[in-house]
Amino acid sequence: MSKVFHRGLLTALLVSAAFAAFPASTFANHSWGNYHWARTSNPFTLKLGDNVSSAWDSYLAATSSDWSQSTVLDTTIVPGGTSSNVMSCRPTAGRVEVCSTTYGNTGWLGVAQIWTRGSHIRQGTVKVNDTYFNTSTYNTTAWRNLVMCQEVAHTFGLDHQDEDSSNPNLGTCMDYTDDPSTNQHPNQHDYEQLESIYAHRDRTTTVEQTTQTGNMPPAMADIDFSGPAQWGKLIHSSHGGWKELYELDFGGGNKVFTFVIWATDEEDGTNGDHDRP
Ligand SMILES: [Zn+2]
Ligand SMILES: [Zn+2]
Repeated sequence: MSKVFHRGLLTALLVSAAFAAFPASTFANHSWGNYHWARTSNPFTLKLGDNVSSAWDSYLAATSSDWSQSTVLDTTIVPGGTSSNVMSCRPTAGRVEVCSTTYGNTGWLGVAQIWTRGSHIRQGTVKVNDTYFNTSTYNTTAWRNLVMCQEVAHTFGLDHQDEDSSNPNLGTCMDYTDDPSTNQHPNQHDYEQLESIYAHRDRTTTVEQTTQTGNMPPAMADIDFSGPAQWGKLIHSSHGGWKELYELDFGGGNKVFTFVIWATDEEDGTNGDHDRP
């Protein structure tokens, strides 16, 4: 009896040890590969560049306020650095640019991208696609909150808590759902996960840098990342590809990651086109 018990306990310990040792391979742990902003102390303040239309301003404000309840980070909304070109939504070193426009029938509701070197995030962008948010299906408070909340959180290094749309809502915007009504904001587990990601201190900072240091390959800044053809290889796909993570490797430890929320195909009611390159 006790032998069985101990064996069960040992197995549990080994499983948790395996999760701790290989965070990058276990997406269930809710951070994407332990990517994080380098900073020397907590809480740190991350600037969110406002390049969104007035229809989005209150949602961006809600997202900023929600995530600022974290004990390790605050966000503040600043004038956008790429307002004149929301289509490309070019990144700004040391912060996150948030953009909205009608990106067209791209298939995606929202995209978050981070530029990393090693495990450190150096800049990020979020795009929300008004081509879909202008339709009656998505032009709702709940969908706008969920997508803005989730995409901005990806630029902190936070992953989804759950990727099965058919189970009950967890009460967090990091939970995929067909009904966003109760998944519009973070929950306690999200804040705990942020505390875990940002528990350590770094000797350097990648937050609020005015220029990009460390020889980022020029191609990393110049590419238009608007579609899957530019996103690199698909490294994670869940539940028929409703959510997907792409990685583009520029060498020397430099990478760009792209997180996507696809729109539901309105014509046949199934998830969007998942056979894209
Ligand atoms: Zn670090
Ligand atoms: Zn996501």
